[in-house]
Amino acid sequence: MSEYDVLVREINGCEQCELSRDRQNAVPGEGSLTAEIMFIGEGPGQQEDRNGRPFVGPAGHLLDEMLAAIGLKRPDVYIANMLKCRPPRNRDPLPSELDSCTPFLDRQIEIVAPSVIVALGRFSFSKFFPGESISRARGRPRRWRDIVVFPMYHPAAALHNPGLKPAIQKDFESLPGLIERVKEAARKAQEPEPAKPAQQLSMFE
Ligand code: SF4
Repeated sequence: MSEYDVLVREINGCEQCELSRDRQNAVPGEGSLTAEIMFIGEGPGQQEDRNGRPFVGPAGHLLDEMLAAIGLKRPDVYIANMLKCRPPRNRDPLPSELDSCTPFLDRQIEIVAPSVIVALGRFSFSKFFPGESISRARGRPRRWRDIVVFPMYHPAAALHNPGLKPAIQKDFESLPGLIERVKEAARKAQEPEPAKPAQQLSMFE
């Protein structure tokens, strides 16, 4: 059994917080384990809880639409949530629930090792940059360890407030360019350093 399969099994059997009590299904995450982009949302909603899959409700349809607009499909990316079980009535995650569940997400990040993490919404963003405002930070890539974190509004926010949809669309449209820049930077970092000019070397000889 792979490390990933072990992780999924642990999540499906987890009872570390009270959210396990009322769930129909835990929602570990899905997608390519070699994806360059990983999307991280907040937690499962009703449809996700019913299906055991992330982003399959109305916010998921919007995510699919935005992915398609930049030429990507779900199998090209990895999608996960901060919480793996649905909070009652979709309330905000509690700090204790996030503390219990985040180690699963950390292991997912380690396994997938994406170049870019798209943090969807304030809870996801605050995992990487606690205390900062998503509305100020959105649309600007930031370095977190050796990964680029790109904060965006959660697609569900556009369902409640359609005025946010253009900002989400704009941020999605900038993703392909961001991926290219990240790849280019990685490629350059792997290039051997140019030989030092003889004159410079002679200073230490
Ligand atoms: S939300 Fe996370 S920590 Fe809580 S029971 Fe579900 S998998 Fe376990």
